[in-house]
Amino acid sequence: MSGFEAIIGLEVHVQLNTKTKIFCTCVTNFGDIPNTNVCPVCLGLPGALPVLNREALKKAISFGTAINATINQNSLFARKNYFYPDLPKAYQISQFEIPIVGKGHLDIEINGVTKTIGITRAHLEEDAGKNIHDGNISKVDLNRACVPLLEIVSEPDMRSSNEAVIYLKKLHSIVKFLEISDANMQEGSFRCDANVSIRPKGETKFFTRVEIKNLNSFKFIQKAIDYEIQRQCNAFEANTYSQEVVQETRLFDTQKGITKSMRGKEESADYRYFNDPDLLPIFIDSILLDEGKNIPELPDKKIKRYVEELSIKESDARVITQDIDLVKYFEFLVERSIQPKLACSWLTVELQGRLKNGNTIATCGITQESFYMLLLRLQEQKISGAGAKILLDNLIQNKGGNIDSLIQELKLEQINDDNAIHKIIDELLSKNADKVLEYKAGKEKMLGFFIGQVMKQSKGANPSRVNELLRKKLQ
Ligand code: ADP
Ligand code: MG
Ligand code: ZN
Repeated sequence: MSGFEAIIGLEVHVQLNTKTKIFCTCVTNFGDIPNTNVCPVCLGLPGALPVLNREALKKAISFGTAINATINQNSLFARKNYFYPDLPKAYQISQFEIPIVGKGHLDIEINGVTKTIGITRAHLEEDAGKNIHDGNISKVDLNRACVPLLEIVSEPDMRSSNEAVIYLKKLHSIVKFLEISDANMQEGSFRCDANVSIRPKGETKFFTRVEIKNLNSFKFIQKAIDYEIQRQCNAFEANTYSQEVVQETRLFDTQKGITKSMRGKEESADYRYFNDPDLLPIFIDSILLDEGKNIPELPDKKIKRYVEELSIKESDARVITQDIDLVKYFEFLVERSIQPKLACSWLTVELQGRLKNGNTIATCGITQESFYMLLLRLQEQKISGAGAKILLDNLIQNKGGNIDSLIQELKLEQINDDNAIHKIIDELLSKNADKVLEYKAGKEKMLGFFIGQVMKQSKGANPSRVNELLRKKLQ
């Protein structure tokens, strides 16, 4: 594909974490018994009227603020008409002419170079229900019908699957930092449609795009885009481009690793959009606008602050800010005067390195408080680095625990008392008089042996003290 350039634009559906649905008061819980969180409004019963959830609006405004977008204080809801078994009204309430969030952008970092990805718009809409295909029968669960979605549409600014994934990861982390969605990809709260086209290098107009629907893991998104780019390039080179690459919706078969045609792509005219007569035009007053615009510190700003104020390496700051939970732990520790570098390496290397099988910081059972106590005892030299690692292994295994009782139980207390160290040294040297002679005769590496023995017997005495006291004694 060396003679071609790939063009990618992404549509991301983010499920907003409001307590209730966007147009009714049913709860939005995931995984409840099917069809228990429903009412006349979300079942689409005749005569039932939708009422807009203010929280959903506020979360959309927060997102717009985070991507430096225009917030349209006046916007409209429209009906998007189509039939599907999980859409009881036979139309979806969405936004068409004027979305709440207008043009914005997101900066991504590709091999140290910053690239700006345009965001065309972000609009509010209701989710559909869920069809569950079970052997010969299909069932419909309407618990998800009418749950608020924010659809975020990017410009066709990405040029590789790698750029697309970097953009998505950034978007994902921003949504998590704003706490407007749990953004759980397995549960479908953050799902992506990828629009992909190619063109010969040097060409300026766009070619036909194909839309790959409902991708819900970064790995599959990357694979699906790469497959699709290759398929289109192959068709171009085989002179079958106009037959094989048509504007359509495709699905990614995760088993086979290929995309397959699902249906022809509708044009927006096919949906017969019109303004929803059941909902008043939206007006965002200054109170709501201020509430929505009041957002927490986002990854880019944090990275800058960590580097400038806490002397953390930029690459480490990037690792921490990829994950809101890491950030929360890190800031909790630093606010309580744990040295930033110590906090950073114990979080990103020691703790994360020990998390296996999908276990995360949030689920491993080690609270911010107990991780703080562990690092405090280390910083105070009450335990050694080696002792702290044993302690951490134990915490991981038992999903948490009380630090000070564990230090006692596991006998990890570091001996800092010179007298106690002296005693151990004296005993050791008198038992090993021959080795002392060897050392004095010039066999310097005996020192390592002595240090090792003292450390072992003292179960982690302060190593620098041991070293110093041993040298003095041997002289
Ligand atoms: P639709 O609802 O029909 O999919 P949208 O405007 O919501 O239309 O989304 C279109 C998406 O396709 C945008 O993300 C846009 O950047 C992208 N796109 C448009 N043209 C191309 C193209 N030639 N190649 C790749 N992506 C494209
Ligand atoms: Mg689309
Ligand atoms: Zn309802």
